[in-house]
Amino acid sequence: MDIIGHDWATSLLQSHIARGQTRHAYLLTGPPNVGKSTLAIRFAQALNCEQPPKPGEYCGECKICERTLAGSFSDLHILQSAAHERTIKVDQIRELQHKLSLTPYEGRFRVALLRGFHEATDQASNALLKTLEEPPEKVVLLLTATAAEMLLPTIVSRCEHLQLRPMALIDLEAALIERGEDKDQAHFIARIAGGLPGMALRMLDDPAALETRATHLNEFAKLLRGNLGDRFSFVEAWEGRLRRKFDRLGDRRTESIRVLELWLGFFYDALHLAYDVGTPISNPDQSEAIEAFVESRAPSEIIDGLKALVGTMEAISANANLRLALETLMLDLPTRVLEE
Ligand SMILES: [Zn+2]
Repeated sequence: MDIIGHDWATSLLQSHIARGQTRHAYLLTGPPNVGKSTLAIRFAQALNCEQPPKPGEYCGECKICERTLAGSFSDLHILQSAAHERTIKVDQIRELQHKLSLTPYEGRFRVALLRGFHEATDQASNALLKTLEEPPEKVVLLLTATAAEMLLPTIVSRCEHLQLRPMALIDLEAALIERGEDKDQAHFIARIAGGLPGMALRMLDDPAALETRATHLNEFAKLLRGNLGDRFSFVEAWEGRLRRKFDRLGDRRTESIRVLELWLGFFYDALHLAYDVGTPISNPDQSEAIEAFVESRAPSEIIDGLKALVGTMEAISANANLRLALETLMLDLPTRVLEE
């Protein structure tokens, strides 16, 4: 399968198809952008490919492979939460169950991809459990989630569980070079993506995303040097920008968390540097700002800042008032001694 990393998972899935031992349900877990959905789609292609080059592989060129990749194949059902709601509801599961009760239309299997199943309500989880207990013929369920602990144990135990981890930076770098990236770019992207192939590919596909990332990090470095007044003005301006860009509050929260994740990367780098761990930092383009920050702080302040960032992300996920959460963060991030 044409996939970056996760060789062991790929060969396991291939061997299941090749030996005719496909399970009824698989659970792929791992951090966002580690490549769970990509692997699931590749597996769905291999399950139904019209002309597999080898048993368990897919060609990538037949109608079914193309439509599976595009998400428009009649025997592939993709289910996930709406971005602004972040919950998978029982009605969605019932609708899926109805579709799965029909025999495959064109393919060998009906495949259901349930993305981010940790967002399912208890009701939805219990409804799905019925399908897992009595799976219909010729149906393969593919669940993805950030971590197995976030699902009902009875769901996990009925799936073949594959845990995906970020790649070693050097392996991701090599894979990007093999795909035709130049050496320096591959080195840089592998690091800022933190070994997450999905993140690396997205950044390569979208140069604007790289620029946005740099802007957010530069703003953050400036913010850390600023006084409280600067910080509160920043939050006000940021919230205004979010309001103009996103109508839905849920989208504003998602975007804020994405930016806070970048800030968190800056703090992890600072922590590694402060304790001289010797691992390469994940934001090499920010090394000057990170070094300057570390020189002016005690390591304990960096740890407190990390905790404040993580706490803010959790609060925003749990629907805290966005403005208030960000303002609290501004108070909790390490400050310089206020100038007289
Ligand atoms: Zn094919």
